[in-house]
Amino acid sequence: MAIRYKAPRGTKDILPEEVGEWRFVEERFRNWCARFGYREIRTPAFEDLRLFVRTVGETSDIVQKQMFAVMPYGVSQEPDEEERWVLRPEGTAPVARALLEHGLLHQSPLVKVFYIAPIFRYERPQAGRLRQHHQCGVEAIGSPHPLLDVEVIVLGYRFLSSVGADGFTIHLNSIGCLNENCRPRYRQALLAFLQAQEPRLCPDCRRRLNTNPLRVLDCKEEGCRTIVQEAPLSLDYLCADCQDHFATVREGLEALGIPYELDGRLVRGLDYYTRTVFEFVHSKLGAQSTVLGGGRYDGLLAELGGASAPGVGFGCGIERVLLARQANQQTYSDEGVVDVFIAVASPQAEPVAQKLLYALRQTGLRVDRDYLDRSLKSQMRYASKLGARFVLLLGEEELAEETVTVRDMQRGEQQRVPIASATELLKELLSS
Ligand SMILES: [Zn+2]
Ligand SMILES: [Zn+2]
Repeated sequence: MAIRYKAPRGTKDILPEEVGEWRFVEERFRNWCARFGYREIRTPAFEDLRLFVRTVGETSDIVQKQMFAVMPYGVSQEPDEEERWVLRPEGTAPVARALLEHGLLHQSPLVKVFYIAPIFRYERPQAGRLRQHHQCGVEAIGSPHPLLDVEVIVLGYRFLSSVGADGFTIHLNSIGCLNENCRPRYRQALLAFLQAQEPRLCPDCRRRLNTNPLRVLDCKEEGCRTIVQEAPLSLDYLCADCQDHFATVREGLEALGIPYELDGRLVRGLDYYTRTVFEFVHSKLGAQSTVLGGGRYDGLLAELGGASAPGVGFGCGIERVLLARQANQQTYSDEGVVDVFIAVASPQAEPVAQKLLYALRQTGLRVDRDYLDRSLKSQMRYASKLGARFVLLLGEEELAEETVTVRDMQRGEQQRVPIASATELLKELLSS
């Protein structure tokens, strides 16, 4: 029996009629990144497993249960350590790896880049989650300046607003630094609080107490969520430097009129974050309401063996941007597949039609013809399905006169013009 092949569970084909909207969002993103001085970077779809264990964290959900291994097919032996690869489960570590590998920070001490890339996580598709989703993100690496945090947040804000994804709230928090009297002190206070509640925590969170108690704040279980309402807040445990940093971030956002809410329980699920963390949460997206998230990661590059270089960035789920647009009743209409369709009404006209077809394409117009021996009537129907603004009709009469009939599909008017002047006329009509 023949197999009916399907896209793997948790993945989606993006069909031609959907691609226009994707491109619209991606082009807006590229445009905003360019305005803010960010350049594009592209990294491989798979990386050394250790890169993510080291940065995202051994105890994170991503590393513990969400990565796809990449192995040569048919090899049963466990690969050597340096050949254990995984599909990219997040965007920041690969960018940091690439900057270090190519010494970009030696060429320029502050590097600002953006990426648009597929992200792979082993998720439960029954919960509507994708195993391959797409992110656009930015990373600004090389400066601890709080106004760089502001820049990254404003970039996300402007981008999302410009694609009709508004309706989100910016949640903002600072989780402090590794100084003894900063996050470690908070961690102690949080741990003491959570230990007192241990019997009421879910099994995952009881395990998290020993590995990373901050992750309990991220737990989606109802019981845990109620408990953490009373938990101590990281903002109350910041060292003086982190307090100053956060104050400047807040003032910077306020000066630019960017609204945000303090969210003392926002920690983000990755180990590498320090100081500022933020999430853009859309009110109409239910369980998967975080459209964009990020923060500062001052220890990440040192963790990868590079000179220490502080950085800040965000990742934004493109599928969720599209859902937010949908929730906001934003529609997208393509401008049609072609500008001009060439309809051939007589076999003798073929050579002339072919010549015209390629000459018009050469001028930059989008032009197509029939390849299925359709009748003239059905060629016209097809032309309007393609959204052609004009149809060029070539029949016996036109051939004899060396003319072509130019039909305006919107106005329903037509005129016969010399073939030699058709190109000029079309360019003129299409630009008016
Ligand atoms: Zn601190
Ligand atoms: Zn829990």
